[in-house]
Amino acid sequence: MIRMNENYLKLHSSYLFRRVAKRVAEFQNAHPDQEVIRMGIGDITHPLPPACLAAFEKAVKEMATRATGYGPAQGYPFLREKIAAHDFQARGADIAADEIFVSDGSKSDAGNIQELFADNIKVALQDPGYPVYLETNVMAGRTGAFENGRYRGVVYLESTAANHFIPRLPAEPVDLIYLCFPNNPTGATMDAADLQQWVDYARDNNALILFDAAYEAFIRDENLPRSIFEIPGAREVAVELRSFSKSAGFTGTRCAYIVVPKSCRVYDSQGTAHNLHDLWQRRQATKFNGVFYAVQRAAEAAYSPEGRQQIREIIDYYMANADLIRREISALGLAAIGGENAPYIWINTGRDAWEFFDTLLHQAGVVCTPGTGFGRCGENYVRISAFNHYEQVQLAMDRIKPVLQPIRKACAAG
Ligand code: PLP
Repeated sequence: MIRMNENYLKLHSSYLFRRVAKRVAEFQNAHPDQEVIRMGIGDITHPLPPACLAAFEKAVKEMATRATGYGPAQGYPFLREKIAAHDFQARGADIAADEIFVSDGSKSDAGNIQELFADNIKVALQDPGYPVYLETNVMAGRTGAFENGRYRGVVYLESTAANHFIPRLPAEPVDLIYLCFPNNPTGATMDAADLQQWVDYARDNNALILFDAAYEAFIRDENLPRSIFEIPGAREVAVELRSFSKSAGFTGTRCAYIVVPKSCRVYDSQGTAHNLHDLWQRRQATKFNGVFYAVQRAAEAAYSPEGRQQIREIIDYYMANADLIRREISALGLAAIGGENAPYIWINTGRDAWEFFDTLLHQAGVVCTPGTGFGRCGENYVRISAFNHYEQVQLAMDRIKPVLQPIRKACAAG
């Protein structure tokens, strides 16, 4: 009899965005004439930067005259060298091209890397957080049952207004720590001193940090670190995820990378150290055959002078949206963070997030993302995304105002 992986039975609900999509579809079926403005899912609205598109087209044409065949599983050197030089060495981070593994997405990397670790390690992750970290560990059997909104056996690093959405170090020893900055969903960022504490913690506990920097391109504040490898000591205890999805508009094109320094160690049951880079290379060689050649050429073009300029302009555009959302929401008297170094605005609604979601959907025709889907700390929050057209954002804000003003007045009077 073919038996299932029963850890899947522990998954407490369908994936957050599927749930949102279902509610929106139901609303649209009931109100076919109402135009819905989607401010929920963090998907790009701009096409590929022209420099990336031109490189993509050129590479596809090249494939008509030359068999590209299987490429290197780790990614083509032309791309890995650009990444190492621009994203790390230019900022003083000691990362070499052969420590970079090109992939089809940070979602895959985040989901795949955990298979290199033992079943019984202690996992710590941010609440609220990107659901993939938690759910892939549930699938792998590293958690107990789901009770009172949480999985047993997981250490939740709470990010709340009380700690300015920067989690404190865990009170108990943990082995694998997921950190995401700029954060999805809160938009919070971590400064070098805070990040140094986590690196020191990982070094003291022989732990590993999985640092997700998918939103690095949105950092405006020059004083903030863009990579964990800008922090002394991180090379021994951290891996980093980066993606072209949100920076260069590759959500549909698919290209990302993971940095696994050669100095990172993991330990077997006897306490003997092993090289994590070698393990990941072994895993990739067995299970992955690399990313489409033309996609890697398109990603390479993101580092050309034109590509960089075009990307800057697109990011500036999204950040103007973020600025507008944050200003308008704050003017309505709701506490909001994010939107300054990240494309997300995290709003304290003062009531149940799904109820607020339904109010915005039914009364304003605007879709946001309920914070509940990111963890228990998101229960009264919603996330609004800045990935949109400016006119749509203006329209959404105009529709939201009359819906929220009476609610705010009632709250103030009550
Ligand atoms: N990491 C975070 C924090 C994200 O929010 C997302 C996508 O929304 C990803 C990773 C996935 O990125 P990719 O498109 O490269 O799979």
